[in-house]
Amino acid sequence: MVIIMKANASQEDINEIVKAIEKYGLKPHISKGEEQSIIGVIGDRRSLGDISFDHLAGVEKVVPIIKPYKLVGREIKKYNTEIDINGVVIGGNKIAVIAGPCAIENKEMLMEAAHALSSIGIKILRGGAFKPRTSPYSFQGLGVKGLEYLREAGDKYGMRVVTEVLDPRDAGVVAEYADIIQIGTRNMQNFRLLEEAGRMNKPILLKRGMSATIKEFLMSAEYIMAQGNEKIILCERGIRTFETESRNSLDITSVPLLKLFTHLPVIVDPSHAAGRIDIINPISRAAVAAGADGLMIEVHPHPENALCDGPQSLRPEMMTGLLKEISLIANAINRTL
Ligand code: PEP
Ligand code: MN
Repeated sequence: MVIIMKANASQEDINEIVKAIEKYGLKPHISKGEEQSIIGVIGDRRSLGDISFDHLAGVEKVVPIIKPYKLVGREIKKYNTEIDINGVVIGGNKIAVIAGPCAIENKEMLMEAAHALSSIGIKILRGGAFKPRTSPYSFQGLGVKGLEYLREAGDKYGMRVVTEVLDPRDAGVVAEYADIIQIGTRNMQNFRLLEEAGRMNKPILLKRGMSATIKEFLMSAEYIMAQGNEKIILCERGIRTFETESRNSLDITSVPLLKLFTHLPVIVDPSHAAGRIDIINPISRAAVAAGADGLMIEVHPHPENALCDGPQSLRPEMMTGLLKEISLIANAINRTL
């Protein structure tokens, strides 16, 4: 349930309620809005018995949370969560664009990509150091060396960097180098990894499992937030369907649905949805039109030589046209790029 406080409730009122919640072995979750504070009560409410919070000082009303996800849901927090990554915001009015190669293959390629992308205004660089490959014989990434290159590229070109963690044992080292930590589609329900992410003090970019429902996706975000990390960016990246013309089917419907159900930012990865470059522009436009807060796009300076996902990687110069198109769509819905 959530306890909605009166606009004039004092800090002491809030403290009293927090004390009462904890007394019954439940967890309070305070969310301070511009006008009112909301206190979420997390845990098994049966431990409360007949106790009610309605009559405590400062309480306007008590509302049950119906949805299975509590902390990430709109019921507990009406306004959008904005995640500030050293001055670059995801979830605000501005559309965020993340771009870079699928994998960090070597330093030269990464620097070339970062140089080209930063020069057209991209502020967040992506690149995998630990790659979740379908085949154990495919390139698995450069590991820690890759993280070093990524950090160096980010620092040199003034970009924030995002990279994937595959294993809770690597969480510490990935957090040392990355500004945003990605959890990929194959690990969306790796609950130990989600809990580890929840204990980290870095934003988490959580990708939707390729066969996960929207509810399962939100429950995975709930796993992270239940451990205390509230900085979560959700990413729709296409789901498995019977269709084979695209690598996955971009579930555009999930974007407005997620925006209805959660206060968290929602971005779209058109690259892993499409698996091909010739439809990246239209589906990116569709994503922004549907309300996505950002895009994550694979870009490689020489896609023909890419060790991973070359066929879906744009060349840096193709980004200029795409950014123009996205900007037009963003303006049409009163947002900016
Ligand atoms: C990626 O973004 O690098 C990636 C592996 O994507 P996904 O987990 O969506 O397949
Ligand atoms: Mn990829």
